[in-house]
Amino acid sequence: MSFIEDARWFTVAPAAGESGQPPKPGHVTLVGAGPGDPELLTLRAVKALRGARLVLYDHLVGKEVLRYVADDADLIYVGKQSSHHTLPQESIIDLMVRLARSGRSLVRLKGGDGFIFGRGGEEVQALAEAGIAFDVVPGITAAQGAGACAGIPLTHRDHSATLVFATGHLRGDNEVALDWEALARPRQTVVIYMGMGTLPIICRELVRHGLPDSTPAALVEQASLPGQRCITGTLQDLPALAQQHWVRPPALIIVGDVVALQPQLMQGMLATMV
Ligand code: SAH
Repeated sequence: MSFIEDARWFTVAPAAGESGQPPKPGHVTLVGAGPGDPELLTLRAVKALRGARLVLYDHLVGKEVLRYVADDADLIYVGKQSSHHTLPQESIIDLMVRLARSGRSLVRLKGGDGFIFGRGGEEVQALAEAGIAFDVVPGITAAQGAGACAGIPLTHRDHSATLVFATGHLRGDNEVALDWEALARPRQTVVIYMGMGTLPIICRELVRHGLPDSTPAALVEQASLPGQRCITGTLQDLPALAQQHWVRPPALIIVGDVVALQPQLMQGMLATMV
């Protein structure tokens, strides 16, 4: 397996086939890698990874997942963590299009599900515009992984009839652009991705828009991975708990009455593991 850590230095092979004609474009498979535990990959994802000759992957893809890639395949890390080693989104799209045009088929591997806060939509849109064939393999999104592995049923007839996935990512102008009124409705579970940096704002705004400050809320860090932690509290004390327990991304915020079930369910899950 050859790792190409800095994709900027990865040169695309000249685009000419045997007859001097441009080669037949490659095919792109967008694969959701799930929340980290390789056992949460779908069978279709494993099949795509085993058959891949070239894989472009993000930083949230669990290292164990990469074991399914053939030893002689090329792996390009295009992670989007804020570091100079990574590529901006436009360059990832550009690289993918150039590789496919040069005749190389590839797997584009993303954490969780590529279509949930993964910018997979933008990537396949660009492929469609460039006339490159693609298919999409769904993945278990972090919210599902966190719910199942930490003992938080995301919906429950007695507690929550609506489930909302939102992003807590800051917009350019330092604002969390969310519809707070919609998020602060009762009998609803709200799962917030990328919200660790804005946790105090999120908790404050949900209370300001009508949720009681005693509403149960949790942080699930590294869901499904060996380092998984789940910290539970309320909208009032969650920011302080996050600091106290030094919670770090990747983590999800889960808000709603279903969180109150977590201690009992986790105990049940641990009891059956012994
Ligand atoms: N496409 C991904 C989400 C990418 S956005 C998916 O479907 O899961 C990145 C955010 O996802 C992180 O900031 C974090 O909030 C969440 N996340 C991803 N993996 C996670 C994990 N294993 N545990 C907790 N949160 C995770």
